[in-house]
Amino acid sequence: IAKNPGESEFHQAVKEVVESLMPFIDENPKYNHAKILERMVEPERVMMFRVPWVDDNGEIQVNRGFRIQMNSAIGPYKGGLRFHPTVNLGILKFLAFEQVFKNSLTTLPMGGGKGGSDFDPKGKSDNEVMRFCQSFMTELQRFIGADTDVPAGDIGVGGREIGFLYGQYKRIRNEFTGVLTGKAIEWGGSLIRPEATGYGAVYFADQMLKTRGQDLNGKIATVSGSGNVSQYAVEKLIQMGSKVVTMSDSLGFVYDPAGFDEEKLAFVLELKNIRRGRIKEYADKYNVQYFEGQTPWNIKCDVAFPCATQNEINEDDANMLIKNGCYVVSEGANMPSTPEAVEVYLKAKILYGPGKAANAGGVSTSGLEMSQNSMRLPWSREEVDARLHQIMINIHETCVKYGTEKDGFINYVKGANIGGFIKVADAMMVQGVV
Ligand code: NDP
Repeated sequence: IAKNPGESEFHQAVKEVVESLMPFIDENPKYNHAKILERMVEPERVMMFRVPWVDDNGEIQVNRGFRIQMNSAIGPYKGGLRFHPTVNLGILKFLAFEQVFKNSLTTLPMGGGKGGSDFDPKGKSDNEVMRFCQSFMTELQRFIGADTDVPAGDIGVGGREIGFLYGQYKRIRNEFTGVLTGKAIEWGGSLIRPEATGYGAVYFADQMLKTRGQDLNGKIATVSGSGNVSQYAVEKLIQMGSKVVTMSDSLGFVYDPAGFDEEKLAFVLELKNIRRGRIKEYADKYNVQYFEGQTPWNIKCDVAFPCATQNEINEDDANMLIKNGCYVVSEGANMPSTPEAVEVYLKAKILYGPGKAANAGGVSTSGLEMSQNSMRLPWSREEVDARLHQIMINIHETCVKYGTEKDGFINYVKGANIGGFIKVADAMMVQGVV
């Protein structure tokens, strides 16, 4: 903590991992002797840079850009870019640290990284977003490459931003390579990549339910957020027969007791991706309740999918979820539950899938996009979806293998942390002190 002042999210993420890994490391002292954890919490490299750009009024704006290259023991650095005014070094280090374990769990050869900027795309014109992305990439391009570091999207970085970033990379480097994932299908993207994180979180919940002989059909689901992850979690939940009753954005949530259907979801996609409006408009259109400034965790449900941002479920929310009968939490977002909320889930022994396992479908499909780019051959929608589904099943099995406790309870936090750790740690051991 003294070494990394003010990086509270990073401290939180490291503490959770270290706590669940310590008994395993005590049983396997070779990792301790090699100081693996001490090395893993130190990024291999951190880049921080100025991003100047000119807004539509001709005024110069200055933002800050970052890329954290956390760990490359098992493959090129891989992880998204986040554009949001709250972005700072601590948040990106937490995300990069989590990414190392998540990428290892996917079974694909990817190291961990993360980056972004405190730039806020909200309220900016397309031209302003383009000028910002071009300036950001002018600096970032010297640190990344298809075999070095492959960024993707995250909060505030979707198809539009990836397009502008890729265009600038190609222009400066004069090469058409898979340096970014999340590209559009016409120029090197993978089918199912936009859907992958949301679909994956639903597949993971389905696997957790199977351990109790159940499935998602007929279950009532609450979802937070209305961005990329939420949209496709809702789509897959509808397909699997669940009734989704909430979606949200940073200003509030809508409660639709009749449930979202394909037509209502199409409205949300148009609202959020094209018009970039607020979720409140959904309540006005479909005449349902809107709760300003609130999160959806007091709504009765069987399964909850936090898909917005970190620390969006606190201890009180977690208690409320359980009081209302919720017994499955599958995290589409990264670290959406506070440590106190996680304690509540583990004490209540519900089916709790932490983000680094449950939302790994996105980066897995990014890994599949990299493979297709290297081969210069696209796979069909069915093929990518089948591979994604199998990867989520494998991640679930890894969690069961390392997380099952004596009484049969599956502690997915422990399972994901140990399962993700072993491969990276073993690679670091044989690569010497680097
Ligand atoms: P988007 O930008 O597409 O959507 C984010 C959603 O969360 C929006 O509805 C946004 O509301 C809401 N939100 C953002 N910040 C806050 C906040 N501080 N408080 C309340 N609501 C907030 O991002 P994604 O869907 O891509 O990402 C969502 C989460 O999933 C993040 O935690 C991300 O790290 C994680 N994730 C994403 C992956 C991906 O493939 N995209 C992969 C793995 C994890 P508003 O519209 O008002 O901003």
